[in-house]
Amino acid sequence: MYFNQNNKFYHGIMFHHFHDNGIHTKGQGSIDKDDFYKMINFIGRNNILDADVFYEKFKNNNLKDNEVCLSFDDAIKCQIDIALPVLEELKIKSFFFVYTSLFEGKPDNLEFFRYFRINYFKSIDEFYDNFYKVLDKDLKSFFEKNSNKIKDTKIKFPFYSISDIKFRLVRDFFLTNVQYEDTMFSMFKEKQFNHKEYSKKLFFQKNDLQTLDNLGHIVGLHSHNHPTLLEKLSYDEQKNEYEKNLSLISSILDKPKNEIKSMSHPCGSYNADTLEILKELGIELGFKQIMSIETEKGMKKINNSFLEIARQDHADIFKRMN
Ligand SMILES: [Zn+2]
Repeated sequence: MYFNQNNKFYHGIMFHHFHDNGIHTKGQGSIDKDDFYKMINFIGRNNILDADVFYEKFKNNNLKDNEVCLSFDDAIKCQIDIALPVLEELKIKSFFFVYTSLFEGKPDNLEFFRYFRINYFKSIDEFYDNFYKVLDKDLKSFFEKNSNKIKDTKIKFPFYSISDIKFRLVRDFFLTNVQYEDTMFSMFKEKQFNHKEYSKKLFFQKNDLQTLDNLGHIVGLHSHNHPTLLEKLSYDEQKNEYEKNLSLISSILDKPKNEIKSMSHPCGSYNADTLEILKELGIELGFKQIMSIETEKGMKKINNSFLEIARQDHADIFKRMN
């Protein structure tokens, strides 16, 4: 079985980025339309359930081991431009989990950073070199102190290069988030990249949500601000994240709140408070992802409780196909 790990099954497959020949440039982990078709064939069209069918079967505890659903996180426009036409053609209805600060003009800068990195540098290493130049800090002793961690990470995640691992360590541990973002914005300035112009091209607009809903896909929660480590927030902050997320989705879709019943955990991060809050909000189906380097701190085991359904990243499946 393709999705077997420790004798448990992934019932969800998680997609993020797609590329084409236009605005959506190829980047780390992105797939194009043909890859997407091939992947659906590889998984087996008959194993893929519509989101509403998946929901009912999960609730009634009669999902078969081979049955999966597709899910799309983060409200990134390439999903609408590239994946949605394929889903419609093959008549697959999926889950779309969206954070909502982007509908208030505050999208996740991560998407701009990604676009910038891919389009303004010839290689990822050229980007890293430029980043360290602009940062202008002596990192020698930091890397020495972390040399074992770097080695361990490389063993656990062999598809990351040593420079990928070092960059993530600097970003996540050496710098605060503000320092990291400031460095990136200085680089934007240097290269005259005006990121605000790209909002509409890179992110969902409200009418995209309405389109998905009208077509029968299920739109679910993914927090308001998409914090990287939601589990570090207080109970009240977490509650605010999900209440705001729910209110905005319900108002954009013009649907009562109690008709929105699914969610996915941003970066797979949550704790006992999160689960309690989601239950109170009437959420009946929640997805997480299994550890990646970005979320090592939020690592969780597969256990498939109703608010912790394990999803496999499409990149893992893609690797098995090739
Ligand atoms: Zn996300």
